[in-house]
Amino acid sequence: MLDYKVVVDSWKISAEVDVLVIGGGTAGSVAAISAAREKKKTLVVEEFGFLGGTQTAGLVTPMMPNQIDKVPLNRGIDWEINSRMMEVGESGQWPDGNMGWFNPEMLKVVLEQLVTDTGADILYYTMFEDSIMDGNTIRGVSILNKGGRAAIIAKRVIDATGDADVAARAGVPFFSGDEATGTNQPFSVRFSAGGIDMPRFISFLNSLGRSEVTQHPKGSNTPLIHTAMVWGRDFPLEPVFRQAVKDGVLLETDGNYFQAFTVAGRSGEVFFNCPRITLQVDGTNPFHLTRAQILGRRAILRYLAFCRKYLPGCENASITSIAPMVGVRESRRIQGEYLLTAEDILGARKFPDAIARSNYPIDIHSSDEKGGMQLHHLPTGAYYEIPYRCIVPKVVDNLLVAGRCISATFEAQASVRIQTNCRAMGEAAGLASSISLDRSAPSRGVSGAELRSALRQRNASL
Ligand SMILES: Cc1cc2nc3c(=O)[nH]c(=O)nc-3n(C[C@H](O)[C@H](O)[C@H](O)COP(=O)(O)OP(=O)(O)OC[C@H]3O[C@@H](n4cnc5c(N)ncnc54)[C@H](O)[C@@H]3O)c2cc1C
Repeated sequence: MLDYKVVVDSWKISAEVDVLVIGGGTAGSVAAISAAREKKKTLVVEEFGFLGGTQTAGLVTPMMPNQIDKVPLNRGIDWEINSRMMEVGESGQWPDGNMGWFNPEMLKVVLEQLVTDTGADILYYTMFEDSIMDGNTIRGVSILNKGGRAAIIAKRVIDATGDADVAARAGVPFFSGDEATGTNQPFSVRFSAGGIDMPRFISFLNSLGRSEVTQHPKGSNTPLIHTAMVWGRDFPLEPVFRQAVKDGVLLETDGNYFQAFTVAGRSGEVFFNCPRITLQVDGTNPFHLTRAQILGRRAILRYLAFCRKYLPGCENASITSIAPMVGVRESRRIQGEYLLTAEDILGARKFPDAIARSNYPIDIHSSDEKGGMQLHHLPTGAYYEIPYRCIVPKVVDNLLVAGRCISATFEAQASVRIQTNCRAMGEAAGLASSISLDRSAPSRGVSGAELRSALRQRNASL
C-alpha cells in the first residue's frame, strides 16, 4: 500500500479521473461503460491488449444460461452486449433464450467499441501495482507499463481484476479456497482446434448412440455440437478414451474432465473446456500460473493427437488458439458488507439492495487429481439475488469490487461467478460509483435500494 501524500508530492501522475476501473474483463468492461454513461470521466486499465478477460483471453465461452421461461434474469448492459454480438452474427440464441454463445475474438471488438463509444478511455498493456491510500480512502493506484512506473489518481476505484488485487493491496481482508482446507478450484487452459470435417464428426458422435447435435441456435449458421467425457459417468466416449490411454496417447488424468463444443461464427472449429489443472492452483501465485500454462500446453498436444487419431472428422485438426490467460475459477474473495452463502443461493433468497439475479447452480469442480464435479441446483423456477453489500468491501472507502471475487463463501462463489452475473455486478459498480460522486458520499454510503431503482430505470430485471 502506498501513501497518498508521498505519491502526490513525488510521483509521475499519468491520469486523474472520476472512476478508475482496474481490469477490463467480464465485469470491468461493463463497469467502464456503466460509469461513462453517467458522464463520469472513466478510465479502464488492462494488462492485455484487449478487453474481455476470462471471456476472451481465457477463451471461456459460452455464457452459462440464466433465464426463466426464456426471460433473462439479468438484462441491462449484459443484454445489450449479447444483442450486439447477435447483430454481427457472432453469437446465437439457444432455445432457452440464452444469447451468450459468443465468439471470443469478436467479443474483443464489440466490447472495445462499446467502451470507447460511451466515452470511457482504455489503457492497455498496463499492470496494476499498488493501491494509494489516505487512511481508509483509496485515492488511486500505481501502475507499471512500458512507460515505467506512475500513479493514476481517481475519485472512485472499481477492482475488476477477478483476483481482488486492488482490494488486497488496500488492506481489505479476504478469503481464498474452501473454508476447510483453503483449496482452490482447478484451473483450465482452454483451446480451440480448426480444420474439422463437421459432417463426419457429427455423424461419428451420433453413431455413439447419443445425439450430441443438440440445437440449431437462432441467428447462427453453426450448429451447436457438444460432447464430453468424465470417467465413470457413462459417457459414450469413455471406451474411446480408455483405448487412447491404453495406447499411450492420453494420460489417465486427461479423462478426468473433457468437454468440447462448437461456437457461433467459428465454423469448422471446436472449442475445448480442458485441460484441467489440479494441484498448485492459487490464481494469485505467478509460479502456479506458469506451471499451469506449461502443463496445459503439453496436455493440449495430447488432446490434439487424440482427436486426430480417434475422432473421425478430426484427422486434419490443428490448433487455432490456446488461451493466453489461465482460466482461474476462483482465487481471492473479499470480505464485504454481506457474505453470500450456499443457503442464500439454494434458498432463493432475495435482498432489498439486489444488483443481480441468478438461477445458476452451485458448480464446484473438484481439485483432487481424480477430478469430477458437484452440482447443487435451485428448485425449478427459483432464483436468488446478489446484494450490493457483496461488492462493498470492508475497511476501504471509495472502492467497489466486481466479478468473481466478491464477498461470498466458497460454495456461493461457485454459483455467482458466471459471466452474466459478473457483468451485472460491473454495471452496478459503475452506476454506484457515479451515484456516490453525485452525492459526494463514499461508495459504501450509496443506498442499495436507490441503486436498485436506478438499475431498473436502465432496464435491469430487478
Ligand atoms: C475454466 C473456466 C470455465 C468457466 N466456464 C464458464 C462458462 O462456461 N460460462 C460462464 O458464464 N462462466 C464460466 N466461467 C466463469 C466466468 O468465466 C468467470 O468467473 C468470469 O468471466 C470472471 O469475470 P471477472 O470480471 O471477475 O474476471 P475476468 O474476466 O478475468 O477479468 C479480470 C480482468 O482483469 C485483468 N487484470 C487482472 N489483474 C490485473 C492487474 N493486476 N493489472 C491489470 N489488469 C489486471 C485481467 O487481464 C482481466 O482482463 C468459467 C471460468 C473458468 C476459469
